[in-house]
Parts: sequence; structure tokens; C-alpha cells
Amino acid sequence: MPPAIARSVASLRSLVAGWRAAGERVALVPTMGALHRGHITLVEAVRQHCRRVVVSIFVNPLQFAPGSDFNRYPRSFETDCRQVDAAGGDAVFAPSVEEMYPAGFATEVRVAGLTETLCGPFRPGHFDGVATVVAKLFIQCGCDLAAFGEKDYQQLQVVRRMATDLDLPLTILGVPTVREPDGLALSSRNAYLSPAERAIAPRLYAIMQQAAAALEAGATAAGAEAMARKALKDAGFNPVEYVELVDAESLARLDRLRGQARLAVAAWLGQTRLIDNIPVPSAR
Ligand code: AMP
Repeated sequence: MPPAIARSVASLRSLVAGWRAAGERVALVPTMGALHRGHITLVEAVRQHCRRVVVSIFVNPLQFAPGSDFNRYPRSFETDCRQVDAAGGDAVFAPSVEEMYPAGFATEVRVAGLTETLCGPFRPGHFDGVATVVAKLFIQCGCDLAAFGEKDYQQLQVVRRMATDLDLPLTILGVPTVREPDGLALSSRNAYLSPAERAIAPRLYAIMQQAAAALEAGATAAGAEAMARKALKDAGFNPVEYVELVDAESLARLDRLRGQARLAVAAWLGQTRLIDNIPVPSAR
């Protein structure tokens, strides 16, 4: 059966209530659409745990800065629904902006600390928009499980913190980043890259791997970060917003490799902002 399409919170709730009455567990995969293999991997991951899967498709204006790419963000609803169908998803929740944020909407969910590092200073208000929409989606859906990609590692940690702090009765599943064969992390925004930029983009991952190897060989974070920054600049990334070694739990900056860490990068290629991160030591 093709996935049911719910446009309103009421219709989503009535679908989920029917499943719950039959004793079925429900998972949610929040997305902004323009689905790719990364999103589909999240659907497949939650299907291991839950009989029913809802994919939400909502380009959330709250998490875009004024003048950023909200209007040109890729939208491909029909193709997305076919992909959800092929992956065995049961429903697509695709509310309008008015359904999510009716006139008078005035509440914000803000996670302190974790949102103040890495992307935080470069995207003021972004994680408040994410935390607010994700909290709403969890409450609207009443899901048992929700999956998020490690591709957006800071987002994953912010969502975990928010769900814990608000006592939301669900489990958050983090899913490793899905990459192109050349190493570029899949992203809906990769569609913005020109052919020349697309050819440079995989250098991001290659340079991160080199920096991770240097850290594992004993380099200081400052040394490895400086090396990666220079290599990114030389490859054509400009500006390089950050290259940072952080603790995988707290996202606190580390001065050298210690415990479970992530190396995270944000850099621009032309008009496109790319982010990526890898575990260090790398999973072997
Ligand atoms: P987005 O549609 O970009 O908001 O992403 C929706 C979800 O898919 C988020 O949890 C992302 O972290 C996840 N995601 C995006 N790209 C990838 C990827 N390459 N691998 C794994 N998960 C991803």
C-alpha cells in the first residue's frame, strides 16, 4: 500500500491512534524532503524496531536565517513519496507552514550549551528552530522512536538533550553518515553544487580523514585543525568556518584526542555551505 499522506496534525494523530490500538510501535523520521539514500537509510534503520514508520517532510522556516536558502531549498514531494513507498514507510506527514505555526504561535524550545559551539555562532537561531519543530513533531506523532543522521551531529546531540530534558517518552536513534563512493556525505544541498564544485567537494572528507590520522598519531588539536584549514583553503573552500575536535557527548572542545571524539568541519564551496564530521578514533 502506498504511504498515507497526512497534511494535518489531526489526520496524523488518527492514523497513529489506529496503529496504537492494534499494539503497533511507531517510528518517526523527520526530514525536509528532497530525499536521498541518507534519509532512506534512516527509514530502514527504524523499521528494524517499529512496525510503523512515519516520514515527515517539512521545510521548517524557523531554522533558516532571513535571506538564506529557504525559498530555493529543493522540493520534490512526488518523488519523495515514491521513495518512502519503496522503503516501506507507512505515512508521510507533510504539514503546511500554517498548520505548524498558526497565527499567534509564540513558543520556542531552546537548548543551552550544546547549541553554542560549532555551527551555533555561525547560524544564530538555527538550533532553536530545529529544537522547536522537532519537539512539535514528537508531540504530534507520539512516536516510540525517532531517527536522526550523524551527518548533522550537533543536531543529533541537541535533539537527544531536548528529548531527555522534556521527558519525552521516546528513544532517539543516531544513524551513521551515508556517503557517495568518493566520500562526499549525501545532502539535499549537494544539488546546489556546480560540476566543478562537485569535483572538489569530496576533498572535505579526505582532508578530515588526514586530520584524524594526524590526531591518532599524536598531533595536537590545534596542529591538526590548522593543517586541515590550510588544506581546505588550498582545495578551494572559502570561508572555512570551523575545523574542531570535540568530545562526542558534550561537544566541548578538546586540545588533543581523548575518549570518544568527533572532528567536525563547516566550510563554503561557492554559494554552498557544507558540513561534515567523523568519529576519532575512526570506527574500523
Ligand atoms: P534533512 O532533510 O537534511 O533535514 O535531514 C533529515 C535527516 O536525515 C536528519 O536527521 C539528517 O541528519 C539525516 N541525514 C541527512 N543526510 C544524511 C546522510 N548523508 N547520512 C545519514 N543521515 C543523513
